[in-house]
Amino acid sequence: MADYDVVVIGGGVGGLSAAALCQKAGMKTLVLEQSDRIGGCCSTFEVEGFHFDVGASVVEVTSAFEELFKRLGLPREKYIPLVQVDPIYEYRDNTRGISFAYPTSVEETAEVISRFSPEDGKAFEKFAKDFTPKIIGLVNNFFYAPCQGFLDIIKLVIKYPKILEALPMFVTTHQKIVAKYFKNDDVLASMAFQSFYAGLPPDMCAGLYAVVGLLEHEGIFYPPGGMIKIPQGIQRAFEDLGGETQFGKRVVRILVENRKAYGVELWDGTQITAEVVVGAINAKKVYMDMIGREHLPWHVWRGISSMILSMPCPMIYLGVDYEPPLVAHHTLTLTPPQLMNDYWSDYYLKGKLYEVDGAPEIMGLVSWASKVDPSLAPKGKHVLTHMGLAPYNLVGDDWDRHKQRYVQEAIATIEKYLIPDLSDHVVYQDMATPKDLERMLLHPGGAVYGIQTDISHMAMFRPSNRSKSIKNLYLAGASTHPGGGVPAVVAGGIITGGLIVKDKS
Ligand SMILES: Cc1cc2nc3c(=O)[nH]c(=O)nc-3n(C[C@H](O)[C@H](O)[C@H](O)COP(=O)(O)OP(=O)(O)OC[C@H]3O[C@@H](n4cnc5c(N)ncnc54)[C@H](O)[C@@H]3O)c2cc1C
Repeated sequence: MADYDVVVIGGGVGGLSAAALCQKAGMKTLVLEQSDRIGGCCSTFEVEGFHFDVGASVVEVTSAFEELFKRLGLPREKYIPLVQVDPIYEYRDNTRGISFAYPTSVEETAEVISRFSPEDGKAFEKFAKDFTPKIIGLVNNFFYAPCQGFLDIIKLVIKYPKILEALPMFVTTHQKIVAKYFKNDDVLASMAFQSFYAGLPPDMCAGLYAVVGLLEHEGIFYPPGGMIKIPQGIQRAFEDLGGETQFGKRVVRILVENRKAYGVELWDGTQITAEVVVGAINAKKVYMDMIGREHLPWHVWRGISSMILSMPCPMIYLGVDYEPPLVAHHTLTLTPPQLMNDYWSDYYLKGKLYEVDGAPEIMGLVSWASKVDPSLAPKGKHVLTHMGLAPYNLVGDDWDRHKQRYVQEAIATIEKYLIPDLSDHVVYQDMATPKDLERMLLHPGGAVYGIQTDISHMAMFRPSNRSKSIKNLYLAGASTHPGGGVPAVVAGGIITGGLIVKDKS
């Protein structure tokens, strides 16, 4: 008899969501987390009284949490507190005196845009009218539907025929959609950066991501206490249902015999047997490191090894001794579509960091979490994080050597474009390089979204939530359908948990 019905590798939001659903169905479930902290990329750590979010800094599409807790029969609000963040983000470039913030309301956002570009203000209203009904239906159906193959897609179309209206969004790019509506460069910049939520520049990213900016107008939310409150809430629900979480347990191998998974082996040699194994970590790692070539058909090995890891996102953590002169939870700069496309081809793919006239500039997004929750910093102080985009391998340099310089370059960039006196107020500074994120979370290549989410790696072309080559093996997390981002990963966990319960009951 196996030690557990289900063993889940990884205590991120994907693994926890699948685990909670299995436990709810009466399956004895164990989550193994290698670190001493829950939540992976969606977590929070404390240093010198400052509470910094590891990676994720906000959530949209909170219906994923409602859906999970509805299926668990538990009240979401008791487990995961969420407050709405408004305005949703500001675009700022002090060098040109540009600054505008988008409120949640679509009408008010159109007014904001109309103040400097009436034509684009009207275009935003049309953009919202054209896409909002499509995306809500799409999210409510596509997000929770297994996409194991053509049959699942047919089932989805039968259940929700309107999905066909959204098909063009899958076969065009983010860039093409926003360029069709908007003409003003700053408006375009404020609508293009969402492609980086897929870890891609706008001209490579599926058109679907162009409407993420609209989804944000359904409301974006932050959990007081830090992003860790989300996985902690799911963990608490899982444990209230009788589930078990163990920390400091690194899985090195999935036990497989005759193409059937029957447990896992930990780094110290301990073996834990289970009827079902869930790999809620990077899918390449699951197949290539933990299962190995000898257990996989050649075409599966070839397919998985050819998949590209998503882009890494270095994170900078700053404690400041004043209230920063910002207006929104998120502030972004340097994101015109052409710059992002050029950055990808001329810098990222060549292992270089972005420069203007020989001076490094670090594009990205500043998050000010203590605006919503001042208790995240000591009294009178605040926390800022900066999420950038950078290659894993730096040509002619190494992240461990470059780290301190990168922090200074990022602070200088923020000073230039967003907060002129920042360096006078920084009392704590640190960063997680792509290598640090890899060491901390065992993410190969520091990849944020597991497998890159380009058009050819979406839905049934992503690693399957139920393995097609190893029986009793399931996958959850950002590498699987529907992809990365906290709510999407929770939705993926719902799919995986649902498949396990259906298959085993
Ligand atoms: C910098 C950054 C910013 C982001 N910003 C946002 C945002 O604002 N909003 C949003 O919605 N999403 C954001 N995301 C994406 C989102 O955080 C992730 O897609 C999501 O949290 C991934 O969850 P997961 O369960 O797939 O994996 P992870 O969070 O990676 O969790 C995997 C867990 O598995 C553990 N693990 C790994 N290997 C092993 C092993 N061998 N044995 C045992 N345990 C193991 C790790 O320690 C980790 O805890 C961001 C991500 C990053 C990195």
